[in-house]
Amino acid sequence: MLRTHTAGELRTSHIGQTVTLCGWVQTTRDKGALIWIDLRDRYGITQLFIEEAKTDRNTIDTARSLGREFVISATGVVTERQSKNDKIPTGEIEIYIIKLEILNAAKLPPFIIEDNTDGGEDLRMKYRYLDLRRAPVRKSLELRHKMAQEVRKYMDTQGFLEVETPVLIKSTPEGARDFVVPSRMNQGEFYALPQSPQTFKQLLMVSGFDRYFQIVKCFRDEDLRADRQPEFTQIDCEMSFITQEDILQTFEGLVKYLFKNVKGIDTGSLPRVTYADAMKYYGSDKPDTRFEMKFVELKAPALKREGIEAVDFISGKGFQVFDNVETVVGINAKGSAGYTRKQIDELTEWLKRPQIGAKGLIYVKCEEDGSLKSSVDKFYSPEDLQKWASLFKAEKGDLLLILCGDDVKARKQLSELRLEMGTRLGLRNKDSYSCLWVLDFPLLEFGEDENRWFAMHHPFTSPKPEDIALLETDLGAVRANAYDMVINGVEVGGGSIRIFQRELQAKMFGILGFSDEEAKKQFGFLMDAFEYGAPPHGGIAFGFDRLCSLFGGVDSIRDFIAFPKNNAGRDVMIDSPSTIDQKQLKELHIAVKID
Ligand code: ASP
Repeated sequence: MLRTHTAGELRTSHIGQTVTLCGWVQTTRDKGALIWIDLRDRYGITQLFIEEAKTDRNTIDTARSLGREFVISATGVVTERQSKNDKIPTGEIEIYIIKLEILNAAKLPPFIIEDNTDGGEDLRMKYRYLDLRRAPVRKSLELRHKMAQEVRKYMDTQGFLEVETPVLIKSTPEGARDFVVPSRMNQGEFYALPQSPQTFKQLLMVSGFDRYFQIVKCFRDEDLRADRQPEFTQIDCEMSFITQEDILQTFEGLVKYLFKNVKGIDTGSLPRVTYADAMKYYGSDKPDTRFEMKFVELKAPALKREGIEAVDFISGKGFQVFDNVETVVGINAKGSAGYTRKQIDELTEWLKRPQIGAKGLIYVKCEEDGSLKSSVDKFYSPEDLQKWASLFKAEKGDLLLILCGDDVKARKQLSELRLEMGTRLGLRNKDSYSCLWVLDFPLLEFGEDENRWFAMHHPFTSPKPEDIALLETDLGAVRANAYDMVINGVEVGGGSIRIFQRELQAKMFGILGFSDEEAKKQFGFLMDAFEYGAPPHGGIAFGFDRLCSLFGGVDSIRDFIAFPKNNAGRDVMIDSPSTIDQKQLKELHIAVKID
C-alpha cells in the first residue's frame, strides 16, 4: 500500500509514530516560516505541518508548489497540535512532514470542495466526480451502502433469495412510459427496460422460489421532479403462500430493523389506516402523520359503501357558497389565531395559485378573550361558530382554516394547506419519523380523459375476495388487497396480493380495456404460467433511493445516487442522452432524418 494510515484515523495515541498518508490537498496555509496543508481522503482530514527552518529545501519547494486537489503522499511523524481543532476527529494531532511527494497535479477545481461549496447545482453535476469528494455527498452514499447491507442482512435472515431478473425485457405496464432499446438482431423490434421486475418476480413464485428479493434498477420515462429519477432503485420483494397480514408483518419488520440498525430509532409497531380514512382525515393517500391536524367536516356527502352518513352543520344560513357546495372541510392550526389580515391574505393567495386551485379561504379565529371572529360573521351567529369550534376541538389562540368545493378537490387542496401549516408551525421535523400502512386501496380508478378504468396499483393486483362480486356491478367500489408504506408523507413502498388464477387475470385485463388478443400478446406468458400451478402470492417494492433520502433527512433523492440525472433527464457529466452515428443507426435499422 502507498499509505500506512488514512486521513481519518490518527489520534493522540499515535503520537511519535512515523506514518505515510495519501490524499488530496484541501487547502494550504503558507505563513512563511510555517506551512500547513489539509490533506483529505474518504476517511477525513489530517493537518500536515512543515517548519521551514527544520525541513529540507526540496520538501519546502514541493509544499509551496501544491495547489488545491493535488494528489500527494506525505510521510512524517504524528505530533501533538499546538492549537487543537475539536471539530474534526483528527484535530488533536498533526503530521510533522519529513517527505512530500506529488502523485498527480490537479487543475484548479471549478468549485470549492468543502462541506459548503460555492458551486451551483449545474456545475456540481457536470463535475460530479469532484462533488463526490465533498463529505456531505459522500456521507449520503455511505448511508446508502449501509442501508443496502442491512436490507440484505434482514432479507437473508427471513429466508429471501436474491435473484437477478433481466434488464432487457418486454413492456410491463406500471403506469409510466417505457424506455426502449432497439434490437440489432431482430429488425424492427425493441426491448423495454423494466419499470419493475413485477412479472418476473411473479414467475419466480410459480417456479417455487417462495421468497424473492432484489435491490434492482428500474426505469420509467416520466417527467422528473426532485424525488424522481428516470432510473431508480427498488427493494423488490415477493412471497408465496401468504396472506396480506404476513406481508405487512414481514415488511414492517424490515422497516423497523432498518430504523433500529441504521438510525438507532425504535419505531414501535406501525399504525394502519384505510385508504378511505386517509382521504377522509388527511385528504391524501400518503398522509404526513408527524403531526395531527386532522380534517374536520362541516359538510360532507355520504360514503355509501363505508356506511357513512352525510353531514351538514352549516347549510341554510344564507351563505350561498356553503349551501351550494358538496363539501366544507377544515383544519385547526393550533396557536395561529395571531395571524394578521395580511398573513391570511397571503395564505389565501397561496391557495389560489393554479398548482392548488382553491377559490378562497374561510377562517375562524379563537381569540384570547374567548370570542370567535370569522370571515363569515355576517352569516353565522356566535352560537353557530361555537358549534364549529367544538367540532374542531378548538381552544383559545387557535385558527380554523376552512375550504369548500367539490369533495375530491376540496380535500386535496386542504391536504396541501395542512402540509403548509405543518411546515409553518415547525411540525415536520426531518429528524422525527412517523411511519404507517395505508390499506384497502380501490382496485380501479376511472380516467376521465381516456374514458376507461385504470388499475390503481397495477393489473396484477387482486381484488379483495369479498369485493369480487362488485366487479360485475360497481367497479369503483372494488377494493384491492393493496397496501402502501408511508413515512413522513412519502410513499416509500407499495405492493399487493396478486391475482394467481388465469380467468381472473384475463377478466382484469378485459376491465382495463385489453382485447383478449392484446392481453395474450403482452401477458400470455404470465397467464400461461398461471395454468402450471401458480401458488397464491403477493409482494411489495420499496423505493430505495427515497428510503435513503428519508433516512438522511434530505428531500431530494439525488444526493443518494452517485451519478444522478438532472431535471431534463440528462447526465450532464457524460453528456447523455446523445446522438449516435449513422453506422450504429443503420445497424439498428433505425432511420433518423438528419437536417
Ligand atoms: N411492482 C410494484 C411497483 O413497482 C410493486 C409491487 O407490487 O410489488 O410499484
